[in-house]
Amino acid sequence: KLDGRGTYRFFEPEMDARMQARRKLELDMRQALARREFQLHYQPQLQLQSGTLIGCEALIRWRHPDRGLVSPLDFIPLAEEIGLIVPIGEWVIRQACRDAMAWPSHMSVAVNVSPAQFKSDRLVETIISALASSGLPAQRLEVEITEGVLLQENAKTLQTLHRLRELGVRVSMDDFGTGYSSLSYLRSFPFDKIKIDRSFVKDLATKPDGEAIIRAIAGLGKSLGMTTVAEGVETSEQMQRIRLEGCTDVQGYLISRPVPPAELAEVFALYPPA
Ligand code: C2E
Ligand code: MG
Ligand code: MG
Ligand code: MG
Repeated sequence: KLDGRGTYRFFEPEMDARMQARRKLELDMRQALARREFQLHYQPQLQLQSGTLIGCEALIRWRHPDRGLVSPLDFIPLAEEIGLIVPIGEWVIRQACRDAMAWPSHMSVAVNVSPAQFKSDRLVETIISALASSGLPAQRLEVEITEGVLLQENAKTLQTLHRLRELGVRVSMDDFGTGYSSLSYLRSFPFDKIKIDRSFVKDLATKPDGEAIIRAIAGLGKSLGMTTVAEGVETSEQMQRIRLEGCTDVQGYLISRPVPPAELAEVFALYPPA
């Protein structure tokens, strides 16, 4: 429209279709909480040394009436953009705390907290309230953040991290190694856990230096007093390598895919406590 006199701009039909699809998704997402269309699936983490499960990560799913099960990769970014991630994330935290109360008491639950949610003033209060109303001890809750949270690192971000820590909630650095300056973030806050991105696990079989990188991250974690979990472990060969390179924990399809809460007991039974 602002191209000046005498020029015409036509709406590109594909563009229009994409915008409409997005608007529809947005409208649907605004209703999804009230319609109870979100679900949490859980994926366990195995501690290599003891052979026991130490907890599960909560992963959101959207059971859309027409589209079926929608992956978080397809709606979390939009939810972030339009601010809906705050109420959705609040639901995740409350639901995860409630669900974890049904698990063996040595097991913790990890929730993913995205940057917009982290910046909202409500996060710490939400967590305090979710812990209180579920009865879950703070020590059994873990918050996973990615580099995006620390990107605009400021006093408030660090203050929030420290407040969580004071509550007893643990903090993990997710997708470690994929960002621009993962290393420097380890310096800004004493994380409890480093989650090595699954792209590095994939590299084990295909890249000559794949093992050296995992070994280096595992060593780094050890020196800093952080546990290291390898994400996306799919084969027993990968698990063996990862154990040799010194990671403390693994998560991946080899142990279990993310499953609905009702199927967790079955998975737990496969890995009885030592
Ligand atoms: P993430 O936090 O890094 O979660 C790990 C992802 O890897 C999950 O994908 C999980 O299903 C997948 N995965 C686990 N093991 C394997 C494996 O062995 N092989 C392969 N190929 N994949 C594996 P998912 O569930 O699709 O979630 C994708 C991302 O969406 C998550 O990555 C996280 O960043 C985000 N997400 C999921 N749930 C939530 C949520 O409740 N809140 C927010 N803010 N983000 C979420
Ligand atoms: Mg995660
Ligand atoms: Mg990850
Ligand atoms: Mg990820």
